[in-house]
Amino acid sequence: MAKTARVERILYIPFDQLHTGHGALKFANKKSDLILLVESARMVDPRVYHPYRLFFLVSSARHFAKSLEKDGYRVSYIKAATTADGIRSAQKEHAGTTIFAARQSSFRLQQTLESFGAEFCENDFFLTPTSIFTEWAGSQRNLLMENFYRKQRKRLDLLMEGEDPVGGQWNFDKENREPLPKNYSWQPYLEHVRDDLDREVASQCGATVGSEWATTRSGALKALENFLENHFVDFGRYEDAMSDENWAVHHSLLSPYLNNGLLHAQEVIAAAIIKFNEGSIPIASCEAFIRQIIGWREYINGMYWVLGEEYRDRNGLAATRSLLPLFTDPAKTKMNCVKSIVTDIDNRAWVHHIPRLMVLSNLALITGVKPAEFLQWMRASFIDATDWVMVPNIIGMGVHADGGEMMTKPYASGGAYISRMGNYCKGCFFDPKKRTGDDACPFTTLYWNFLDQHRGTFVKNHRMAQQLAGLTRLSDLADVRKRAAKVLKGLELGEI
Ligand code: SF4
Repeated sequence: MAKTARVERILYIPFDQLHTGHGALKFANKKSDLILLVESARMVDPRVYHPYRLFFLVSSARHFAKSLEKDGYRVSYIKAATTADGIRSAQKEHAGTTIFAARQSSFRLQQTLESFGAEFCENDFFLTPTSIFTEWAGSQRNLLMENFYRKQRKRLDLLMEGEDPVGGQWNFDKENREPLPKNYSWQPYLEHVRDDLDREVASQCGATVGSEWATTRSGALKALENFLENHFVDFGRYEDAMSDENWAVHHSLLSPYLNNGLLHAQEVIAAAIIKFNEGSIPIASCEAFIRQIIGWREYINGMYWVLGEEYRDRNGLAATRSLLPLFTDPAKTKMNCVKSIVTDIDNRAWVHHIPRLMVLSNLALITGVKPAEFLQWMRASFIDATDWVMVPNIIGMGVHADGGEMMTKPYASGGAYISRMGNYCKGCFFDPKKRTGDDACPFTTLYWNFLDQHRGTFVKNHRMAQQLAGLTRLSDLADVRKRAAKVLKGLELGEI
């Protein structure tokens, strides 16, 4: 019997780098490297995270480990109390080995690996090396995403005609942002088939799982193909639209796979450009999608590292309210939009960016929920919620807790926006146009109350001038304040 070669090196693969062509695996030696994946107890604790999210992460990692074994890698998949414990036990078993890894995607995990004296290669699950982003950030007075995005388009030579953008504009958002027409006909959802391993993990995580999310690379590739064939054409136009009739609208549903490594941004972009070049996809849709990948995704990751580890603790608007019960239990509210969206999250750990920003984060912002508590809830609830995604998105963009370092103004709005972009209001007890009275929309009342409370902070911000002028024109501000106090109490009690 052939003798197995001694393990020279341990390649640590976290659950968000599941790709053989990138990260540490790119440098793997099948004979002498041991590929290590660690499933920590926290990863399978449904008290900490949404069970569907746990299921997705763990089942993807276990499928990936199996596929590596099949491809001839030497694999150790360890269950341990913590990641550090798992690495320690692998090192003990293979004394004298070094740890090799790609740079990690969170401060915490990077520090854990550093404490083992690991050697690192670049984290190439992103398209922008850290040095390029840091150099860009250092050269800017305002760290605006749009400026970064234009630089990315040129650097990566995407949708460019020489020095100019294809279609003559960098950004086609004005042509997008449409609400859905009445009686819209929907495409059928793509359904992923569960196997024995999925069922085993679902039972371990206490998850009731549907067919929404794949846990293998082949399933993730099917999701990419489904988006390009059936949804790409209308993606841009309805990117911001919300509906209680269809949870996906025309979104790609690729973020979970991009964020755990089953898909790489490079291959997603390449496939999108091929489809666009066939001629049936409007530039407004293609540009919007490309911007999400090479703009937003890269920008948010870059900002996570530039803003630093303490950024997550910011509370620039001095918010003091505890997390409202409606975030964890949709039965605790009569607000149709929130009830419907939180139910969607309960069912599949996902809603698209507008419910996240303009309903959930907006509500946390205008009710003054403590940013750290809201961040923790968002981190725990979404299938694609990595640390680098959620910290800048929530602290900077969602609840404006950084004093405007990332976004020049807060994303606060009343019920009018939700009414225009979704169909929730027609079935709601509240009226989005009203700011006072028992049936006044809580968003509308609390929006004005929020501006009133923070008038002193926003008065120096010229981008808030229009909103503050509107506030000054309100003749019923005293009644709005009274109604706001009642609404906030009701929300705390789970009765509004
Ligand atoms: Fe939401 Fe207000 Fe519309 Fe009700 S009326 S669905 S609370 S925005």
